[in-house]
Amino acid sequence: MDFAYSEKTEQLRAQLRNFMDDHIVPRIGQWSEEIHSGVFPVSFMGELKSLAKAEGLWNLFLPHLGDDEPGTRLTNLEYAPLAEIMGRIPWSSEVFNCSAPDTGNMEVLHMFGSEAQKDQWLKPLLNGEIRSAFAMTEPDVASSDATNIQTSITRDGDDYVINGRKWFITNAHHPNCKIFIVMGKTDFDADTHRQQSMILVPMDTPGVELVRNITTINHHAPEGHSEVLYRDVRVPASNLIANEGDGFMIAQARLGPGRIHHCMRAIGMSEVCLELMVARSQERKTFGKYLYKHGSISEWIARSRIEIEQARLLVLKSASMIDQVGARGARREISMIKVIAPTLLTTIADRAMQVFGAMGVSPDTPLADLYTAGRVLRFADGPDEVHLQTIARLEIRESQDKLLDVVKYLRAPGR
Ligand SMILES: Cc1cc2nc3c(=O)[nH]c(=O)nc-3n(C[C@H](O)[C@H](O)[C@H](O)COP(=O)(O)OP(=O)(O)OC[C@H]3O[C@@H](n4cnc5c(N)ncnc54)[C@H](O)[C@@H]3O)c2cc1C
Repeated sequence: MDFAYSEKTEQLRAQLRNFMDDHIVPRIGQWSEEIHSGVFPVSFMGELKSLAKAEGLWNLFLPHLGDDEPGTRLTNLEYAPLAEIMGRIPWSSEVFNCSAPDTGNMEVLHMFGSEAQKDQWLKPLLNGEIRSAFAMTEPDVASSDATNIQTSITRDGDDYVINGRKWFITNAHHPNCKIFIVMGKTDFDADTHRQQSMILVPMDTPGVELVRNITTINHHAPEGHSEVLYRDVRVPASNLIANEGDGFMIAQARLGPGRIHHCMRAIGMSEVCLELMVARSQERKTFGKYLYKHGSISEWIARSRIEIEQARLLVLKSASMIDQVGARGARREISMIKVIAPTLLTTIADRAMQVFGAMGVSPDTPLADLYTAGRVLRFADGPDEVHLQTIARLEIRESQDKLLDVVKYLRAPGR
């Protein structure tokens, strides 16, 4: 596998870095002020989106765009280093129409939406005119096992009627969020993996109630990780995505690339933590030496560099495998990096906080936000343990063919 960045990728990296330096970095302070004073989306978001679109830095995550769909067609491998750059300032991915959960939702509509659904919802999403949410997790059941979900989607004449309660639904409080993809059950008696379906629910449908925006580790995300109630919500039957019973299959397809997008961004965030740690350690002295000259801190710096490089290589390998054999064929790599990247970020953010002293846990550095981003990512798109289970299962399955072969290693030759 060749992970050297292509000429096209290098050119886009330079263009994206320039865009970040010219338009995003100067607005970090303003973004923070506006968010904390309750302005959302921030006043300059529309302007920056238009600029990014005009520059072709748009929908970079989606490899298979139609002729009339706006965006730069990239493979996952080409996109990875660009997502890493966006990750350095996490809110920036919205500027390039590359933020979750819209990216996964666009992929779902692209792969499984009817022409009418694409016209009504995919087009405005690809144009960055609206935003969307994906509603699967429920407070009343352990939702890391998607077969547990209890929201009902019941056929009634030409409509479906939806009843259920969801929570941690990212984006639901975004003022431009206009559409939910809701996962529920159309047939509670079908085979375990054929009970679920996905349906489009416009935000303004009667019976949809935003109950609250849930803070995570006391971090307030203005776009929301929201609790949402669906009470007798009625939508046309044509809002169903694909067919009844396809929900589980669509969920699997949706999560492949989306999971590694998070990991790509987590590597960018980890780089920022390391850069801050390195800079601070050369600024402050204790006991007569700069911090980086203390053995423990120089070890944190070195270990952080090693761990970032390891994770980046696995992200690139996973991206390349998705390109070559699809998300299903790459599921072990996707799960491996989904376990590694969030913990990498929390570990390096934690070291950087320590090097900064008390300032490290204050709002004067981005470290607390970056730490939180890593910590919550250990749940979003599946908790670590579920991914570890996937990896172990595949390992055990593959070992079955080798069991006899491996026995030879148990004895010294000649015995
Ligand atoms: C910031 C954030 C954003 C999110 N955004 C969304 C969103 O937009 N849409 C959405 O639908 N959901 C979203 N989620 C929810 C997320 O997908 C779920 O939290 C996750 O799937 C776990 O489900 P649960 O919380 O019900 O935990 P449970 O299913 O109750 O699991 C609890 C714990 O059990 C353990 N566990 C589970 N399975 C195993 C196993 N096989 N082996 C060993 N231990 C196990 C794990 O430690 C797990 O953390 C978000 C969550 C967060 C924190």
